[in-house]
Amino acid sequence: MAPRSTIAGSLPKPPWLASRDQLWAGWIPRGEDLVEAKRDAVRLVVVEQEQAGLDIVTDGEQTRQHFVTTFIEALDGVDAVNRATVQIRRRYAASVPRVVDQVSRTEPVFVDDVGYLRSITDRMVKAQLPGPMTMADTLLDEHYGDREELAMVFAGALNAEAREMADAGADIIQFDEPAFNVFLEEVPRWGITALEKAIEGVDAVTAVHICYGYGVRANIEWKKGLGSEWRQYEVTFPVLADSRVDQVSLEIAGSHVPLEVLELLGDKSVQAGVIDVATDRVETADEVARTLESVTAHIPANRVFPSTNCGMVPLSREVARAKMGVLAAGAALFFDESSVSSSGSSTVE
Ligand code: ZN
Repeated sequence: MAPRSTIAGSLPKPPWLASRDQLWAGWIPRGEDLVEAKRDAVRLVVVEQEQAGLDIVTDGEQTRQHFVTTFIEALDGVDAVNRATVQIRRRYAASVPRVVDQVSRTEPVFVDDVGYLRSITDRMVKAQLPGPMTMADTLLDEHYGDREELAMVFAGALNAEAREMADAGADIIQFDEPAFNVFLEEVPRWGITALEKAIEGVDAVTAVHICYGYGVRANIEWKKGLGSEWRQYEVTFPVLADSRVDQVSLEIAGSHVPLEVLELLGDKSVQAGVIDVATDRVETADEVARTLESVTAHIPANRVFPSTNCGMVPLSREVARAKMGVLAAGAALFFDESSVSSSGSSTVE
């Protein structure tokens, strides 16, 4: 079987690295100890993914406090100290950095992390970056006054980072764009242009992750208001089908996404979320295989990569490990059962 299963990206951090009292908690070690502790944590989560049987591994985002703001804070023109509290994704208040001047990327942010990840595993590696639209929605802008313009500036910075990540050994580079499920009118207008600018010329498989968020209260309340069928993907998938992005990472397990929308993705491959991250209940391998079966009624199996709905950072380490195990086991069960040929499948496109 070709390399297939992978997590969306993040994993919970060990208690010696970051406090578990809150989701985006601060680091516990300081200075050089922190540098070493982050590497130790990456090594640990890589071993855990390998032992679970996953084919494509990530660094579990062990080196970042937050999947969006940590990248923003590394850029020039940003004040990460005197933060602001703003409403993000139209649904909850968050402490965010302020854009106070022209933004530029003067040095690599996660490139060394990718190189380290590449050096400690023989499996395929996936690296994550925030998407430009989601970045523009996770800050207070006091300089540009225009989200589209700011997103394009971010796309330039992301492109430079992504190119270097590919050179450092990333097989897949994924841009996390939960904002694509919220600002539906802006995706075709400029969100997709910004994403394409971010992936331009990147020598790796490119992916975009669009989800309904972690199982935190604000998201659970939001989902309740989305009705019995979640049709946001219906707006964005045709736009993505026409784009240069290779893969779409999306949410299926436990969601109200009507699966026929998958057919709007054209010839893209999908990282199918077959593990619900909004519950501590661990799926069975058989359930995972059945979810994959329902997905492949709409997308050919050779374009399906079993994954999680979203990052697992809010879960306990025990639950996250168990979910990784059934993800790999369910994927193996499904692909062994089905007649998917492994010929010509050494590529993940
Ligand atoms: Zn997500």
